[in-house]
Amino acid sequence: MVNHISAGGLKLFVSGLISMFIAISFSSLLVNPILRFESNLTVILACIPMITVYPMLMAAINYKLTQALVGKQEQLIHLSRHDGLTGVFSRHYWEQRLLEEFKRCQRSGEEACVLMVDIDNFKMINDTYGHLAGDRVLKEFGGLLQNLRSSDITGRYGGEEFAILLPSSDLKKSLQVAERLRRDIEQTTFEVVKTCTVSIGVAPLNAQYNDAYKWLDQADKALYKAKTTGRNRVCTNKDIAVASCDYPS
Ligand code: GH3
Ligand code: MG
Ligand code: MG
Repeated sequence: MVNHISAGGLKLFVSGLISMFIAISFSSLLVNPILRFESNLTVILACIPMITVYPMLMAAINYKLTQALVGKQEQLIHLSRHDGLTGVFSRHYWEQRLLEEFKRCQRSGEEACVLMVDIDNFKMINDTYGHLAGDRVLKEFGGLLQNLRSSDITGRYGGEEFAILLPSSDLKKSLQVAERLRRDIEQTTFEVVKTCTVSIGVAPLNAQYNDAYKWLDQADKALYKAKTTGRNRVCTNKDIAVASCDYPS
């Protein structure tokens, strides 16, 4: 019965019980057994291994199964939260984190910024070197984005577009982070394409936004500004000249 329950739950338990009842009835008809309700020493001794070793064995098997399940669950959570190619967060999970951070900052009045990062002329990379080479660039790119501070929340927003949430960062600090990232990517030698640049839009959280997507939209507008003013640059949704920022060397 223990075997049946552990292998097939209530269903197998019930069918096992019925089979056992039928088997006992048939064999009773054949051998006409005498029922004795007291056991002799031989029977008791013969039962000891079964009633001691067996439950321990079952417990050990259950423990192993539980451990394996926990491992699989962690794997599943990781898969659902991360983008398979680049290793950064998936768009769905990143947006969840954005909403959480938006609410948290609204309550506490803390500052935060969103960066929208888009690889420049990525279509040309695909067209020149092929899709697989493009994937390779995205993978390397994902690795570079993971070198940011551990508190920063980075996700793949679309094909070659990434979003970074910088908690506890004001606009000035975020512009410095964005510019450092832009420069690092510009100076990185990629495996296939050698050089690659990005445009970045930066939007600080504004108390007047009534939902997080307004904030995101502002970062997107800033990114559009960076694209239309020549690419390979950082722009904000506010009219602050990026060049006037005091970037660390
Ligand atoms: P811009 O500087 O204006 O951003 O130009 P762009 O060429 O980067 O932008 P566009 O939107 O024209 O092209 C993006 C390309 O990215 C087109 C699409 O095929 C490619 N892409 C999207 N996702 C993937 C991916 O997972 N792997 C590869 N290899 N390419 C991708
Ligand atoms: Mg692009
Ligand atoms: Mg794009």
